[in-house]
Amino acid sequence: MLRITDLFAKVEEKDILKGLNLTINPGEVHAIMGPNGAGKSTLGNVLSGREGYEVTGGAVEFNGKDLFELEIEERAREGLFLAFQYPVEIPGVSNMEFLKASVDAKRKHQGQPELSAVEFMKLARETSKRVSLDAAFLKRGVNEGFSGGEKKRNEIMQMMLLEPKLCILDETDSGLDIDALQVVANGVNEMRSPDRSFIVVTHYQRLLDYIVPDYVHVLANGRIVKTGGKELALELEEKGYAWLEEEAV
Ligand code: ADP
Ligand code: MG
Ligand code: MG
Repeated sequence: MLRITDLFAKVEEKDILKGLNLTINPGEVHAIMGPNGAGKSTLGNVLSGREGYEVTGGAVEFNGKDLFELEIEERAREGLFLAFQYPVEIPGVSNMEFLKASVDAKRKHQGQPELSAVEFMKLARETSKRVSLDAAFLKRGVNEGFSGGEKKRNEIMQMMLLEPKLCILDETDSGLDIDALQVVANGVNEMRSPDRSFIVVTHYQRLLDYIVPDYVHVLANGRIVKTGGKELALELEEKGYAWLEEEAV
């Protein structure tokens, strides 16, 4: 699914990722933990092709293709989903329009016809129920005055509608109440399948009680410095990161 080899990346002339290696097979859920500023969000941004992130070395293979040869939109159409892709307000565009446009783009890529407005409305209403979002929400502007919990529910809804192959969820638990956390976790758990993989970036072990990962990685100083099973998250909760950061320098 994803093979990252010796990845180096810069942000504003500063080296952030410094030789990162990570392989993700279909069906796997990988949690990435690590201290603030380690480069976790940078990794997601580099993978999704966000502006301002310069790759200075290494390779990333996604579904057998060179990820860096793909434009941002192509990455999405190939099935890469970054959950914080659009926490910006887009004036004059409703949620419904935004979601329909992204679903239509993906369907077109797969040679499927666009959904009619009525078909999409039905699908969107069903999906909004799965994430406990009021259907009225679909008419609101994209992220216009959303609470943190609503943003997350909306992201999970988008993930469900797009059915990506690789989902990257970053800091999904920061500032979320327990209900929103459950929605995120249930959404991920519902969508787990042998041909879909997840990278879940989290500061807190708590989320991993609900989304049980196959692997837990520690990202420190721009590299994966430790990999373990779900029990590693508990160890980190207890011991912090300092012992690993020292090893990583
Ligand atoms: P994490 O998600 O692990 O907390 P980040 O990837 O957000 O870490 O940040 C890693 C480092 O890169 C930090 O020192 C941060 O200040 C810097 N950084 C990340 N994104 C930007 C940006 N857009 N502009 C400037 N510095 C950035
Ligand atoms: Mg951070
Ligand atoms: Mg971050």
